Amino acid sequence: MPGETSTAWGRGELYETLCLLTIGAGIWFVGASLGTFDLLNGFINAYHLNDLLILAACMGLALFGASVRKSILLRRLMLERDAAAAQAEAIARHDGLTGLANRRRFLEAVERAHTADPEPTSAVLLIDLDRFKPVNDLYSHAAGNAVLCAVSERLQNLLPPGGVAARLGGDEFAMLVPLDQGSEGLTRLAQAVIASISEPVTWNQNDLKVGATVGVAIVAGDHADADAILHAADLAMYQGKKDGRGSYRFFRSTMDEELRARARLETELRTAIETGAIEPYYQPVVSLPGKEIVGVEVLARWQHPERGLVGPAEFIPVAEETGMIGDLSYSLIRRACLDAQSWPAHLILAVNIAPHQFQDAWLAERILAILTETGFPPGRFEVEITESALIQDLEATRATLLSLQHLGVRIALDDFGTGYSSLYHLRELKFDKLKIDRSYVDAITMSDERAKLVDAIIKLGTSLGLSTTAEGIETDASVDWLSDQGCDFGQGYLFGKAVPKAEMDGMLGLDSLPRDRSAPIRDLAVAS
Ligand code: C2E
Ligand code: MG
Ligand code: MG
Repeated sequence: MPGETSTAWGRGELYETLCLLTIGAGIWFVGASLGTFDLLNGFINAYHLNDLLILAACMGLALFGASVRKSILLRRLMLERDAAAAQAEAIARHDGLTGLANRRRFLEAVERAHTADPEPTSAVLLIDLDRFKPVNDLYSHAAGNAVLCAVSERLQNLLPPGGVAARLGGDEFAMLVPLDQGSEGLTRLAQAVIASISEPVTWNQNDLKVGATVGVAIVAGDHADADAILHAADLAMYQGKKDGRGSYRFFRSTMDEELRARARLETELRTAIETGAIEPYYQPVVSLPGKEIVGVEVLARWQHPERGLVGPAEFIPVAEETGMIGDLSYSLIRRACLDAQSWPAHLILAVNIAPHQFQDAWLAERILAILTETGFPPGRFEVEITESALIQDLEATRATLLSLQHLGVRIALDDFGTGYSSLYHLRELKFDKLKIDRSYVDAITMSDERAKLVDAIIKLGTSLGLSTTAEGIETDASVDWLSDQGCDFGQGYLFGKAVPKAEMDGMLGLDSLPRDRSAPIRDLAVAS
């Protein structure tokens, strides 16, 4: 504490002064005893000075010495303090690891550029590293630091004269650059930054690879301050990440609203999941050519308080990105299993499981827990997986699929033909069913090419021992053609859209409710 420090100094000085006075007295005593002051006797006698005066002179001399020493000490302390202050200032304005300007200094530089000229004269590039976390996790923090230092060096090499490069924190960097080459110059710089950061960094004989996504914002008068400019660059960078990492985006004023809308959607979605506002709807799956209902696919629908019924394309991707998909999915499965209790005992219940969920090693156990709790037989339960799950982590997906199949659950490969699955996947993963995407089925009656492809898929399924379902059947002509080619099942508006449980009950002839009002299902029967 400052008080304590000054008291300690005061005591020290007093002690030092007393010591020096004692030494002065000691010198006088020794001098007087040894007669050293005899030379001065004449002088003393002449002026009638006595011994006490000599003592005072000696002590005064000592005090003089003390004050000289003190002022030397004080000067040294002042120099040390100035050096420490300069060092603290440097630390406060630079990043310790890379030596680049830190966020504070960068913001000051942006603010200066912002206030200096109402016309845009500079721009901010916000650079966020891609795939930096795996480097840190897989190779250690030392490797991560090596990457950060290499990136800072590369940015400095690309920095135009008069620019400022900074590390804002973590794996986030920024550049403030003059605008003298217009937006083409900025584009070239952003591309060069991405290319340069994407070059591997050699560390302990390993090639560490990261990438970068860049957001660009012009320092202009319509931004309130430096923070607002950085925020704009951040929004542009975020948009770049969404559109595909390793890209650059320029800030557009609509981005702010888009981001706000997205944040609103996330909050509303969280509440909707908690309150059960997202419900399972059911679309019939029929056998071909008999058109008997053999199962239903569970499709999520959100009863939004203001917007009405919202389809899954709008909220499933958000639920996946925010990690809410598990909660949503399990709640839908539980409700569907309960709804299905009153339906004929042979009906298959098919649910869509998002790619990300297959990375959960406990997926099979969680599903089993719901089936057990609701008393729904695993043999009537079908999981639909899209092809993108296969490329995310094949091994994890394979393990989860095997666990599910051990329970007796069937696995269907959904939207077949739209993704990346290869024959290798079909052979290795032992699916039970292929669902031919509706983009193929749509076109069979119009395009000979498409029809040939659908025919080939059905034959491929048959030869691998898989059943096939054609999705998106809308016309009788398609039904006839698909049946002729040997397709086992069909699904589409022709047989019925996805409907809530009450309407599905009606479709199954379980109560007096009108059948699906939205689609003709005149020929449908329920398989016995
Ligand atoms: P999907 O699994 O391929 O489901 C079939 C989609 O095609 C459904 O769209 C369905 O309404 C639509 N459809 C069916 N027949 C026809 C037709 O004849 N014509 C046309 N034009 N469309 C038809 P929906 O319900 O909008 O679902 C879209 C996708 O959202 C689903 O595709 C599925 O991948 C996903 N999804 C739906 N519910 C869930 C869910 O609970 N979890 C997960 N992970 N994904 C879900
Ligand atoms: Mg599906
Ligand atoms: Mg599908």
